[in-house]
Amino acid sequence: MHPDLELLLQLQSVDYEIDELERSKEYMPDMMDTLREEMAKSETTHREAVEELTHLKTREKVAELELASLQEDLKRYQSQMMAIKTNKEYDALVSEIDTLKGRISEKENEILQSAERQEEIQNSLEGLQSNASLIKENNGIQLGSLQQRLDSVGDKVAERDHERQRIVTQVSRPSMSIYDRVRRGKGAQVVVYVKKRACGGCFKAVPPQRYQEIRRGSRVITCDNCGRLLVYTLKESE
Ligand SMILES: [Zn+2]
Repeated sequence: MHPDLELLLQLQSVDYEIDELERSKEYMPDMMDTLREEMAKSETTHREAVEELTHLKTREKVAELELASLQEDLKRYQSQMMAIKTNKEYDALVSEIDTLKGRISEKENEILQSAERQEEIQNSLEGLQSNASLIKENNGIQLGSLQQRLDSVGDKVAERDHERQRIVTQVSRPSMSIYDRVRRGKGAQVVVYVKKRACGGCFKAVPPQRYQEIRRGSRVITCDNCGRLLVYTLKESE
């Protein structure tokens, strides 16, 4: 293989690593946000359940006191029935008692519904708590390792940049300018292997004579169609 191509293959893989590292600076903080959000969400769900339970218990106590007081009233009215003298008084009292009975039944219903809801929350509470702690533990570990990776990105990029410079100084100027130009236009894949006698980048067939030249590796050859640098590989099936 032509020495320039050998170097440019190395350069291409260093550039790929640099690109990946730069990309990781973008996506790692996003991943970390997602992990933090998941932690906060599971904690909130658990906390809200505890708060609702506390609220329901308080409300239930109040409702029970109200119920007791309504039942007292009912007893009092019922005992007044004995002392009724007129039909008018009787009608009025019956209507009061009916109203009271309605309110008592509403109160009892409210207490029953509250008890059902409390039981429902009580049953889910343990699961919510263990889910929250599990997520906290797992995501905490992932966050730690992502933070470590993020902290080391700068050093890694600097290392690769150094390596890049070392390679670039050894490549001939014309080959280097081809590499730079194609990279700007086509992205990461600049030096490609010839596969099935076609360019590995754009798949355009390579004419037989050029193919032989690429095999010999005596000079740098680019694809007529896409401009990528072409390299012969032994893996190529004849
Ligand atoms: Zn091509």
